[in-house]
Amino acid sequence: MQRVYNFSAGPSALPEEVLKKAQSELLCYGTSGMSVMELSHRSKDFIAIFESAESLLRELMRVPDNYKILFLQGGASSQFAMVPLNLMNKNKKADYVNTGTWSTKAIKEAKRYGTINVVASSEDKTFSYIPELDPSKFDKDADYFHITTNNTIYGTRYATLPDTGNVPLVADMSSDILSKPYDVSKFGLIYAGAQKNLGPAGVTVVIVREDLVGNAMEFTPTMFNYKVHIDSDGMYNTPPTFGIYIMGLVLQWVKEQGGVEALEKINNEKANTLYNFLDESSLFKSTVKGKDRSIMNIPFVTGNEELDAKFIKEATAAGFVQLKGHRSVGGMRASIYNATPLEAVQKLVEFMKKFEMENK
Ligand code: PMP
Repeated sequence: MQRVYNFSAGPSALPEEVLKKAQSELLCYGTSGMSVMELSHRSKDFIAIFESAESLLRELMRVPDNYKILFLQGGASSQFAMVPLNLMNKNKKADYVNTGTWSTKAIKEAKRYGTINVVASSEDKTFSYIPELDPSKFDKDADYFHITTNNTIYGTRYATLPDTGNVPLVADMSSDILSKPYDVSKFGLIYAGAQKNLGPAGVTVVIVREDLVGNAMEFTPTMFNYKVHIDSDGMYNTPPTFGIYIMGLVLQWVKEQGGVEALEKINNEKANTLYNFLDESSLFKSTVKGKDRSIMNIPFVTGNEELDAKFIKEATAAGFVQLKGHRSVGGMRASIYNATPLEAVQKLVEFMKKFEMENK
């Protein structure tokens, strides 16, 4: 069985080197005589895996010392509640920008805990752009300001981050963490599900500025309290051990590629390869324009649903899989995260050219 070109939005392609390394260590990790999956989370071997993953992430993202890193469970979706429960603790209000399905869900969840001011939305055009932000609409007394840096379904991303002054910026970075350098010091909190750029599903990374933690709402469930996890060095309960191990391998791989700056270069090249073709094509069209275009998720359409279905069917048969767009956008979407090689995008474009010729 041959491996395919996997364009899934998540869980998504992992670096082949990582999978091979995990395969070689699956039965016996180091000198432990057992699999990582069988190691106690309190064992010396696992603590070393845990600490190495944390320090690699700190190094790669240049996380300042006054930020804590947590490896939690529950996916980014749990953070939709955990963020307000822990951070909406002074004035019980927060600003949100609505740039897609995940922002909408984050807003809905946060509304359970306080007053949410939606400062801008791009819902009017199926979230195909990042709305202009008018700082006069920002609430200076908001406990935080929430954005989704990259919108997985709609293929948009912030070209520049909003300046929120003293109001902590909180970001759902699930689909573009480690794809390009972000200045962590500009954020109060960053969260991301691992299953795109970091590793397998099951680990959720949270990077939080220390001074924001410690005032969770009184009724916050213990497991939803950042302070509980920080105070127990991430071992309040059993962390997702195998996922953290794979994430550590992915982070090591990122370092070997030259770090986030090097990956950004390749990611731009990958995205430009596809966008340049889409902009010239007489059949396929990109659904997003200009600076808002994501370099991770690229939706495109032919404008004809039957032709879209034919393309997806033929692409799948040719080994280009998971190209079906999200149902709210239709058409196709190529997710090209860090682990997708340039070659996969080049081959996809070749295939699209051929399809275009055959379906004029
Ligand atoms: N935010 C974004 C930007 C996402 O892409 C996703 C998942 N695709 C989520 C949140 C939800 O993540 P999870 O499934 O880990 O809860």
